Amino acid sequence: MLAFLFLIAKKIIKEKIQMDQNSCSFCGREREEVQFLISGLDEVSICNHCIDQAHTIVHPKDKKKKQNALNIKIKKPKEIKEFLDQYVIGQEYTKQVLSVAVYNHYKKIKHKSSEKIDDVELEKSNVLIAGSTGTGKTLLAKTIAKLLGVPFAIVDATVLTEAGYVGEDVEGILTRLLQAADYNVDLAEKGIVFIDEIDKIARKSDNPSITRDVSGEGVQQALLKILEGTVVNVPPQGGRKHPDQQYIQINTSDILFIAGGAFAGIERIIENRLNQRPIGYNATLQTLDDSDNILSKISAEDLRKFGLIPEIIGRLPVISYMHHLDKEALKRILTEPKNALIKQYQRMFEIDGKKLIVTEQALDKIIEEAEKSKLGARGLRTLCEKNLLPFFYNIEEYKDEIILKEEDINIL
Ligand code: ADP
Repeated sequence: MLAFLFLIAKKIIKEKIQMDQNSCSFCGREREEVQFLISGLDEVSICNHCIDQAHTIVHPKDKKKKQNALNIKIKKPKEIKEFLDQYVIGQEYTKQVLSVAVYNHYKKIKHKSSEKIDDVELEKSNVLIAGSTGTGKTLLAKTIAKLLGVPFAIVDATVLTEAGYVGEDVEGILTRLLQAADYNVDLAEKGIVFIDEIDKIARKSDNPSITRDVSGEGVQQALLKILEGTVVNVPPQGGRKHPDQQYIQINTSDILFIAGGAFAGIERIIENRLNQRPIGYNATLQTLDDSDNILSKISAEDLRKFGLIPEIIGRLPVISYMHHLDKEALKRILTEPKNALIKQYQRMFEIDGKKLIVTEQALDKIIEEAEKSKLGARGLRTLCEKNLLPFFYNIEEYKDEIILKEEDINIL
């Protein structure tokens, strides 16, 4: 008799579950209301909200971690700069510009949460950094994100295209950030995005063209929307937008965008502008032969002439530049920063119980070759890797010390 009653009860429950299989068995939310609905045995399903809740019950520390992460500790500009000094050599001006921009940005976010309705609205100031490749633009942005503990994403502007064209939708930028934030939307909304090679989406000519410019102006228009701060529908798994896909909404108002680019050839535009406008009463035409100095005079007008649309320039109001890295700077990069290349290699050999010593002459030879390659500090790692390969390969043959001499730097 008991067994019979049990069977009937089981049947009723099963029928009820079958009716509900399009909803979460725990909270009852319908499939349309949730991002994920995972089905288990006996037609039981669980939605992403309940998974999250269950996770915080099982791992209460994670909940605390999430809350702490949202509580970004604002560092003063000088503290930010001091932190940057530990990792990035030189580039004093951009370090100061970024320290102030980042400090002001997060201060605004804090202020916003406590502001009154009729209060002054503080707009954000994204940053544009011009400077040749391998001078530390990405490193600066990455180091700031590390200091603040905010999610950080690097995107390459060259892969972006207008919606509907082959390439990546602009919203993909935010997918990367969301992934870096472990899908924590609140955290992603306070992250930093570094848009590399922004100069590559410049309009090809100064005159707006009536024909379509797939990778130029159109992309700039699409980027605008994200830079200025709106709610964007982001495909959580990336890829092209698709009508059936579930989106995660991200508000970009508090995301700090740092755009970098080499802007090859902009020196000429700056030079022309400066030479057309002699300043002062008896001013003679300025002739500037130091390319570093020229870049330091970069203005919004030059960027427009280069091919960025005025609206984009308006959304990147803080403009900075990078210095060319001379031999001395390259040498310091090899040895001084907290995770300098030579320090990294020394640690690698140390793990095998060997001490790596690099002679001054060997360092000079590496630097000389790196300078020739015109890749900035980027050339340094490749050169080190190539020339240290025989030492790594023959590691067993060395006793305690490995000395890298000038004559060992022969693979260039
Ligand atoms: P960019 O973004 O300007 O092309 P990166 O920041 O990607 O250049 O630099 C490439 C690598 O070169 C960095 O990971 C870092 O190891 C090194 N590097 C470049 N510039 C500097 C610098 N000023 N100080 C320390 N390391 C640097």
